[in-house]
Amino acid sequence: MYDCIIIGKGPAGISGAIYISRSNLKVLVIGKDDTALKKAHLIENYYGFENPITGEELFEIGIKQAEKQNIEIKNDEVIDIKWNDNFFTVITVNAEYEAKTILLATGKSRNSANINGLKEFEGRGISYCAICDGFFYKNKKIAVIGSGEYALHEAEILKNISDDVTIFTNGRELPQNRSIEVTNYIEGKIDAIKGKEKASKIVLEDNTEYKVDGIFIAEGTASSVDFAKKLGIFLDNNNIKVDENMQTNIPGIYAAGDCTGGLLQISKAVYDGAKSGLSIAKKVKNI
Ligand SMILES: Cc1cc2nc3c(=O)[nH]c(=O)nc-3n(C[C@H](O)[C@H](O)[C@H](O)COP(=O)(O)OP(=O)(O)OC[C@H]3O[C@@H](n4cnc5c(N)ncnc54)[C@H](O)[C@@H]3O)c2cc1C
Repeated sequence: MYDCIIIGKGPAGISGAIYISRSNLKVLVIGKDDTALKKAHLIENYYGFENPITGEELFEIGIKQAEKQNIEIKNDEVIDIKWNDNFFTVITVNAEYEAKTILLATGKSRNSANINGLKEFEGRGISYCAICDGFFYKNKKIAVIGSGEYALHEAEILKNISDDVTIFTNGRELPQNRSIEVTNYIEGKIDAIKGKEKASKIVLEDNTEYKVDGIFIAEGTASSVDFAKKLGIFLDNNNIKVDENMQTNIPGIYAAGDCTGGLLQISKAVYDGAKSGLSIAKKVKNI
């Protein structure tokens, strides 16, 4: 059991890990390599670098610094987080881990899928959480829109509710070495979601129509907003809401960096990581 699992290995996650580990606690960082930081071409406004540094270089320095302090880092994708009375289970594509606390440092949430009709039918046949809303579609015709491991995982949950679950990849390919095998998928690009009172069909660009009772959106990698919706974490304009200790409304779940909104800069992500790391140490040690 870890004292804390941090999701994200950008500046917020690594800064949090350093403070937690230096408080003598057991911390695990799970993240993918696609951070906002790596997209930064040249950074000239972050303290301590006489000459501009690329985001890629700064990212590597942060990872090396953490590794030198014996912080455990896993390159993996988190697809679910579960709350079990007094600890959390973090489910990745490859494994499951348990922790007393969670730090969400997943970066800025991407925009939702840009599909005609999606916004119009949100909450009326369109959902973002299989485990929360799947039951409403027991034995019904269910569609999952997405093409990554996260979509496969959501479809797997829904298969316990209905035998009729189809993944719509919206023009993309499913992962080559996928962790879950699927046979029921449609690769055509989606033109629109249509319906009357509620969403009732998916129309592809080639005009093929598929009748559906419920649609679940699981695009790309699960974001802070996806985790928030599953766990009941309060959001403010798609940013995770935190208190003065960086804790969300769910005790034990903290958030730091771009996913909490405000100044989308490295200095703020590093501050958030430090602040949340110290708050987590206090919570775990009960001080
Ligand atoms: C083009 C560009 C230029 C920029 N230039 C500057 C600049 O000059 N100066 C400056 O201060 N800031 C700059 N920024 C902003 C800066 O990069 C961000 O503010 C900073 O990286 C935020 O850190 P973070 O740790 O919150 O998120 P990120 O750096 O985005 O890291 C998020 C981490 O979470 C991981 N993750 C997300 N979801 C999952 C999941 N489901 N499972 C596992 N891992 C997951 C990601 O893979 C990543 O490791 C720039 C950003 C961009 C895009």
